[in-house]
Amino acid sequence: MTADVVIAGAGPNGLMLACELSLAGVRPIVLERLNGQTKENRANGLVGQVVRALDRRGLHERLSGSAEPPRPSPAFVFGAMPLDLGRLDDNPMYGLAVPQRRIEQVLEERALELGVEIRRGHELTGLSQDEDGVTAEIAGPEGPYRLRTRYLVGADGGRSVTRKLCGIGFPGVTRDDSVSRSAHITVPAELIDPATGGLNVPGYGPIPPFMHHRTDHGMLAFAPFPTGTLISTTEWSRNDGDDEPLTLDELRESIRRVLGVDLPFGPPEGPGPHQLRRLSGGNTRLAERFRDGRVLLLGDAAHVHSAIGGPGLNLGLQDALNLGWKLAAEIHGWAPPGLLDTYETERRPAAERVVMHTQAQSALIAPGPEVTALRVLFTELLRDERTTKHIADLMSGADIRYDLEGTHPLTGRPAPDLVLETETGSVRLAELTRTARPLLIDLTPDAALAGALDGWRDRVDLVTAKTAQEGLPTALLLRPDCYVAWASDSPNPDAKERDTLRTALASAFGPARPAESFGAPR
Ligand SMILES: Cc1cc2nc3c(=O)[nH]c(=O)nc-3n(C[C@H](O)[C@H](O)[C@H](O)COP(=O)(O)OP(=O)(O)OC[C@H]3O[C@@H](n4cnc5c(N)ncnc54)[C@H](O)[C@@H]3O)c2cc1C
Repeated sequence: MTADVVIAGAGPNGLMLACELSLAGVRPIVLERLNGQTKENRANGLVGQVVRALDRRGLHERLSGSAEPPRPSPAFVFGAMPLDLGRLDDNPMYGLAVPQRRIEQVLEERALELGVEIRRGHELTGLSQDEDGVTAEIAGPEGPYRLRTRYLVGADGGRSVTRKLCGIGFPGVTRDDSVSRSAHITVPAELIDPATGGLNVPGYGPIPPFMHHRTDHGMLAFAPFPTGTLISTTEWSRNDGDDEPLTLDELRESIRRVLGVDLPFGPPEGPGPHQLRRLSGGNTRLAERFRDGRVLLLGDAAHVHSAIGGPGLNLGLQDALNLGWKLAAEIHGWAPPGLLDTYETERRPAAERVVMHTQAQSALIAPGPEVTALRVLFTELLRDERTTKHIADLMSGADIRYDLEGTHPLTGRPAPDLVLETETGSVRLAELTRTARPLLIDLTPDAALAGALDGWRDRVDLVTAKTAQEGLPTALLLRPDCYVAWASDSPNPDAKERDTLRTALASAFGPARPAESFGAPR
């Protein structure tokens, strides 16, 4: 074998997977058909639990430029209806406004630090597989060549060549009844509301910032990001085959149609790159399978949907966190039977939830009096805190519960944020998980669980600590993706509970191995 894992695509999800594999001791080769970074502007930010997940790899600090831990957003929007999240006790909606180009830069820097080989200008063109591995056919700068690998991951975007080469269906719908236009602009200072940062449009009224704003004729969003002010419209019409690049005048006319009045604005300032984009219609599709033998699909290669609410990277980057350690376990030879298949059983339902809520939101922003009536009803429902929480959990991905054995309410859920008092001082859980190693966190008064790890110390690290936080379990077993594999509330877990811990260890990390088979514990 030339490689353990080949990843096709150095988009955010392929790069994230490369980092995860490297942390787990596997060196992947990443193939990227582009010679340099794409000029395309896509995501403007990260939304949901992925922000906490990146903090747990030390990447939040790099992306936000601040050592402050992530904090949930007090407000967000569902189908152009405001969500008052500030009133929730347990607000799951984290957000980080950072352009996708920067996310890709940070992930690429991290991957290179971890020793990942990224081959730019190398395009996957074919593949075949047998029992032992995959032969990838690649068009490189010096001509075509073949690469033999144990596994191949297609992180090659919505038009995934990998998916097509494996004959994996991509059922769903393609719509061509909307046109979105977006551009960086400058707005006269007198139109900015100093209290909200939103717009005061003469003859129309206030438009809050960072919110989709629906009218009878379309939708408008005004987003004064630190990196530039972005405005976008969506209209329900066909793009009549006009493939000329978008102009600011065309956007101006679109705004006039959506709002019914003119919005005075000028071209963007600063060095750019500036966005000027027209998108027509959209796809909502989900791969029939995420795996074909030794080939796996990741991110947009496995699912595409509307960008409304910005769920794409929340889904795709968490796919990468889910897949990385499982693939590494296969390669290291300690994966329990069926572990790699749980990538699909755990992540496909997460993708189905995103497909559901983006389609629901698309329906709620459509034109028409029936939709307006539905929105009135929805707005009434959202006054109930429980409904707001339900929607926030859905959009942030906090309602995901993987189907793991165990009765503790945290089993299968993302680990709570913890501040632990250890022998070496106070530490946030997010600082302990940067190595991406499984962790047993023992908070029992007598550090009662140390012995229960015998047989897994090569794969699982033990953290013995105290905490002043209330309402926490006394012990948690965390997978590398920071989902809880087992938890206990007992101050002194008895023999039966230790057995359930050992069962959870075996089912996530394979059978116990005698210490001499792997040398000294790490
Ligand atoms: C307009 C728009 C706005 C969006 N806004 C948001 C947002 O605010 N928040 C959010 O979370 N998400 C957003 N998204 C979604 C997000 O951009 C995608 O989910 C994300 O880019 C998917 O990443 P990926 O790595 O799976 O695929 P991609 O980013 O598509 O990367 C795939 C990579 O594979 C390479 N490639 C393709 N074929 C091959 C091949 N055969 N061989 C080698 N390399 C290949 C491509 O060149 C590319 O670099 C938005 C998307 C769009 C279109």
